[in-house]
Amino acid sequence: MNLSFKNRIAFYYMLATATVMALVFFVIYWVVHTAVYRELDNDLAYEAHKHTKEIYVVNDSILFVNKREWEEREHRAIQVNPVFIQIVDARGRLMDKSPNLKEGELIFHSEKKSDTHFDTKLNNEAIRQVQIPIEQRGVFKGYILTAMSQEGAIVVLNKLKNTLLLLFPIVLLGLFGITRFLAGRSIIPVKAITNTTGTITRNNLNERVPLPQNKDELHTLASSINELLNRIESAMEREKQFTADASHQLRTPLAVIKGTLEVLIRKPRTEEEYRSKIQSSIDEIDRINKIVNQLLILARFDKSNLKLSRQEVDLRIAVDNVLQRLKSPIQQKKLSVNVSSSTSDSIHTDPYYVDLILENIISNAVKYAPEGGKIEVSVSREGEAMICKIKDNGIGIQASDLENIFHPFFRSEEFNHAEIKGTGLGLSIAQKAGQMINAQIEVESEVGVGTVFGIWFPILSQS
Ligand code: ADP
Repeated sequence: MNLSFKNRIAFYYMLATATVMALVFFVIYWVVHTAVYRELDNDLAYEAHKHTKEIYVVNDSILFVNKREWEEREHRAIQVNPVFIQIVDARGRLMDKSPNLKEGELIFHSEKKSDTHFDTKLNNEAIRQVQIPIEQRGVFKGYILTAMSQEGAIVVLNKLKNTLLLLFPIVLLGLFGITRFLAGRSIIPVKAITNTTGTITRNNLNERVPLPQNKDELHTLASSINELLNRIESAMEREKQFTADASHQLRTPLAVIKGTLEVLIRKPRTEEEYRSKIQSSIDEIDRINKIVNQLLILARFDKSNLKLSRQEVDLRIAVDNVLQRLKSPIQQKKLSVNVSSSTSDSIHTDPYYVDLILENIISNAVKYAPEGGKIEVSVSREGEAMICKIKDNGIGIQASDLENIFHPFFRSEEFNHAEIKGTGLGLSIAQKAGQMINAQIEVESEVGVGTVFGIWFPILSQS
């Protein structure tokens, strides 16, 4: 059954109420039924015992004492619920009966126990009857049968039954309607949320769902949807920014190459001029190549099913490999590089990401250190982490830029050191690689003094 939310709530509520109500109505009927019949049986028992004292036994006959008086009384008084009395002998034969029985006769039920009240019929009308034994000096003589009409009780009980049966569906339908209305009102915020989220596209991502007034579950739902939208919006913003920065970074060297070639083609040049212009164009092409390669590395991090291939990695060896690859710029800048290690422990992780981190951070130290500068690399162990620190005495980074250097394409003080070429992507690659293997990168720097990068590698990488 495909019910709407408010109908489902109303339906479940109705089912629960129907069960409770059926139980309550049954109990009410049962209590009234028991009370009415107890009253009837009390009256019957009282009359029966009263009349046992008004009979006499002669030989085999049992008769009423004051029948004549009784008959007169019957004529005078109007009895609301008349009592029928009848005497039968030990074999159940009629001995005497009250005048109000007229032509009728109570039926003796030999199978019924004495003193128990039971339902039977008199002239096709329902009556309640009791049979009490008559004894004379300890000798059993017969029974006095006493009966009263049940009509009054039946009418009362039938009225009660009909009222309850009528009330049952009316109350249920009423409750269904009210619950449906209230449930409808309480899910108004859900409709508002659905309407708003239905209209949000990438063009109006700044819209938010309205928060309900009450701080309830729906308020929490609306707030978490808004927080989700915040995250999506800022992710989209970052993506837009990234695309804009990437195309800008690629367009710049292309513009330089175009300009150089246009200048060259304008008039014949000397061989020297051709060489230098072509060389600068090749440098720009190398730069484009580097940016594209770095973008590809960054794009690879966004794949969801990246798997780590873990193995033992000796940080000291990993550092040496990187330094080996950077041999030529180190020699060109006459840098002194000192590597020290206070531990022979290794880490269990994916060497590809360790290499990406070390390569980008050590190449920065080489790049930003002055001619003849000093680079110190140390490897040590602290608890369950191996720490690699890379210290240079280069240009340093402004304190206000420290939190931005890991953002893609960010370059600190770019125009103050235009001769140091870079893409602004190295540290974001290092940070993403760190996230892959749970390594943490921290940085301390002072402008004009130098920079220290510390990388915390967990000995056993978990991700
Ligand atoms: P880039 O290709 O520009 O070096 P990175 O992402 O590697 O890009 O670094 C971002 C910025 O952080 C650099 O442009 C530079 O301003 C700063 N930076 C990084 N490492 C160093 C360092 N060792 N010394 C001084 N500045 C640094």
